[in-house]
This record gives sequence, C-alpha cells and structure tokens, in this order.
Amino acid sequence: MTSVTANLEQVWSRIHRAAQRVGRDPAQITLVAVAKRHPASAIRALAAAGHVDFAESYAQEADTKLRTLDDLGHLRWHFIGRLQRNKTAMVAQRFDWVHGIDRAVLAERLSAQRPSDRGPLQVCLQVDFTGGQEGRSGVAPQSLPALAEQVASLPQLHLRGLMTLPPPESEFERQREHFRHLEELRQELNHRGFGLDVLSAGMSGDLEAAVAEGATHVRIGTALFGARPAS
Ligand SMILES: *Cc1c(COP(=O)(O)O)cnc(C)c1O
Repeated sequence: MTSVTANLEQVWSRIHRAAQRVGRDPAQITLVAVAKRHPASAIRALAAAGHVDFAESYAQEADTKLRTLDDLGHLRWHFIGRLQRNKTAMVAQRFDWVHGIDRAVLAERLSAQRPSDRGPLQVCLQVDFTGGQEGRSGVAPQSLPALAEQVASLPQLHLRGLMTLPPPESEFERQREHFRHLEELRQELNHRGFGLDVLSAGMSGDLEAAVAEGATHVRIGTALFGARPAS
C-alpha cells in the first residue's frame, strides 16, 4: 500500500470516529482530497484506490494539471481557492463544484460561462467570520441572504450550501464555534426557503470539530498528501 492510500484509510477512520461520537452516518460525509501544489501523480495514486472527489485552489495550476488527468474521466473536481474574474471560464468548463463564491459578479460569470451540456455547476457560498482579517475572502454573515438570493436565481448554478475557512485554532471547542455558526446560518437560509444540503467545513487540523457540527464535505490536503511543497 502506498503512503497516500494508507493516509486515505487513516483520514476515513478519523471521519468515522468523529461521526460516531455525535451519532452521524459517515456515509453522508464526502472527503474532498485537496491536491493543490501536489503533482498529478499523487492524484493518480488516490484515484487508483477508488477516490473520486479532488480539489484544487489555484486556477493556473489546476488548468495544467487537469489536462494531464483527462483520461481519468470519472473524477469530481472541486474548486476551493480564491477565484479571479479572468479565470472563471476555465473553472466553469472543467470543474463540477465551486466552494468559494463570495461575490455576485463571480457567480454571474460562472453561470454564463457554464457549458450547457455539463449541467449546472454546484456551488457553495463562502462565509467569513473574521471581518476580512488576514485578507480572508468570504461574504460577511449579514450580507449572506442577499447573495444567496442572487446566486440561487442563476440558471447554470445550483446553490448547495455554505463553506468557511476559519483561522487556525488548536482547541476543539474553539474550533467548533465557527462551524456551529456556519450551520446556524445554513438553517436560517433554509427557513427562508433555500434547500441547502451542504456544509463544506473542516481541514486536516479540525475535521473532527467540523464533523461534530454537521460538515457534509471535509476538505483534506496535508493529512492525505503530506506537507505541501513551497510555491
Ligand atoms: C489548502 C486548503 C485546504 C486543505 O488544508 P489542509 O490543512 O492541508 O488539510 C482546505 N480548504 C481550503 C480552502 C484550502 O485552501
């Protein structure tokens, strides 16, 4: 067994334990393997073990890497990085999911550029609880309902849920706070009639806290592929 497939088993057992602790079904959790700055060969190794969901963060890198993986036709691609306006066409064409929508203009471009034969792009809105500290992207909680209205009205997007990228936090109870807040916002939007079924939350260092608060998609890089090479 190669180390990535051993890591895959370990991450799944973490997910199982975290789900069991709160009485959740682990089958309702999607493990998204974050491959940014790792070579295409690492993706191939995980795909060979049957893994399907992969994420990239940098549009230029993703464009090059995905071309070399075209033969692996059954993979699902998630874009989780900060999206620039001039990169939306590539993402609309090649990806299945975009987790980090925080401005209507990005959503409008993605919808207009989505090839009709690919079906709607699955999207999440990124929420920022830090007030933009450390240059974090994401929409402020108070602006979320208006953005959700705009995104939900776009024909080639399917608004699925919310995503957040909290500041690093080592203590479990503190880790849970942002995720709990995200889940509360999802429920508020659902009371307004949005049928959001996705909570994209949790990374290598805090996946247990995210699962405890209802994460449906955990985005895991380091625990699967090891430390990222410097850019
Ligand atoms: C890099 C990244 C991850 C993965 O982080 P790890 O700590 O390596 O698991 C998850 N989500 C986003 C948005 C990222 O940019």
